[in-house]
This record gives sequence, C-alpha cells and structure tokens, in this order.
Amino acid sequence: MYQLIFATNNAHKIAEIQSLVGTDFTIIDMKAAGIDIDIPEPHDTLNENALEKAKTIFNITQTNCFSEDTGLEIEALNGAPGVKSARYAGEDRNFQANVDKVLDQLTNTENRNAQFRTVICLIWKEQTYYFEGICKGQILHSMHGEKGFGYDPIFKPDGADKSFAEMTMEEKNKFSHRQKAVTQLFEFLRKQ
Ligand code: IMP
Repeated sequence: MYQLIFATNNAHKIAEIQSLVGTDFTIIDMKAAGIDIDIPEPHDTLNENALEKAKTIFNITQTNCFSEDTGLEIEALNGAPGVKSARYAGEDRNFQANVDKVLDQLTNTENRNAQFRTVICLIWKEQTYYFEGICKGQILHSMHGEKGFGYDPIFKPDGADKSFAEMTMEEKNKFSHRQKAVTQLFEFLRKQ
C-alpha cells in the first residue's frame, strides 16, 4: 500500500480523486499531513505551477507527493482563462465572478469550444513526473446545475447531454480531465 500526499486545499478535488483511487493507495490531503499553508501558483504554465506546489510540499515533508493544476482553455479567448482560471475575475478566487466574466466575454460568440486541461506533477523517490488529462467540450450560454465547483455549471463535455454541474461525481469522472490524468498517475504507480 502506497501513501502519497496530495498537495491541495481544494475539498472538491480531494473528493474527486479519492473516489478514483481504489484500495491500492492512500491519499493524504494537506490537512491530514498537518500542513496549513496557501500553496503558491505564480507561474504562466500549468506544468510550472504544478511543479511549484509539489516541490513546496516535498520540501516540507520529504514524502512522495503529487499536485495538480487545472485550467479552462477557451478557443475564442485564445486559451484564457487557462492558468489564471482560479483568479480570472480577481484575487479572491470567486467562482461566480469567474463564471460571469466568461459568460460576459462570450456574449454573441458562436464558437463555444473549450477544454479543461489538468497537469499532475508527481515527486516519486525524488524524481519528477508529469501526467496530463484533457476534456473537450462547449461553454453553455447560462449556468446549469448546482453540483461540482468552479466552471462546472457552464461546461458541457463532448458526448454528454448536460453540464458537469448536473452530473454526479461518478458521471463527471467518466469525462473528466482530472480523472484522465489521475488514471495515468495510478497506472504509473502500480508499475513501481
Ligand atoms: P487550480 O488552480 O488547479 O486549483 O484550478 C483553477 C480553477 O479552475 C479552479 O479554481 C476552478 O475555478 C477551475 N477548475 C479546476 N478544475 C475544475 C473542474 O473540474 N471543474 C470546474 N472548474 C474547475
């Protein structure tokens, strides 16, 4: 049984990943690891931010750990909000304000193509590894559903007939960017 620290304070992400883990691994969140810090995300790429978060936790704990950074990349906005997804409408990371800003910017825009992209950075036996998951879809014209978090109410994945926020966690996992990246992470770890 492997034990890993997941470098996040986001309870939704922990729940999503925990639901995918199975019994082979124990994932410890930062709170359980006794770490109470706001992890920095200062860089211009998901990879660099993910590395920064994993390194921060590794330097404190010297324990195998992973982090993830996710961005919503909208074609008509040249990839924005992208790496700035959490703080798109301001430093207070307000989900509703971020959603409103995206809907506002896409008013009268026909091209609604977008993707969520997740990068996981794993520090395993002091080596660094990256895993990526992408979920393509469409930005809806208004909010639908109340589950999930972030941009879930305005994102409908390709092949689905409802938004992420209208899905149970199990349904979201069938499509989700995070699920794809995490699957690769666990495939790697099972080979170790
Ligand atoms: P982070 O920097 O990886 O924590 O995530 C950036 C932002 O992207 C979050 O604050 C959310 O607004 C958004 N986000 C990340 N993952 C998801 C998701 O699965 N659904 C909806 N929004 C998400």
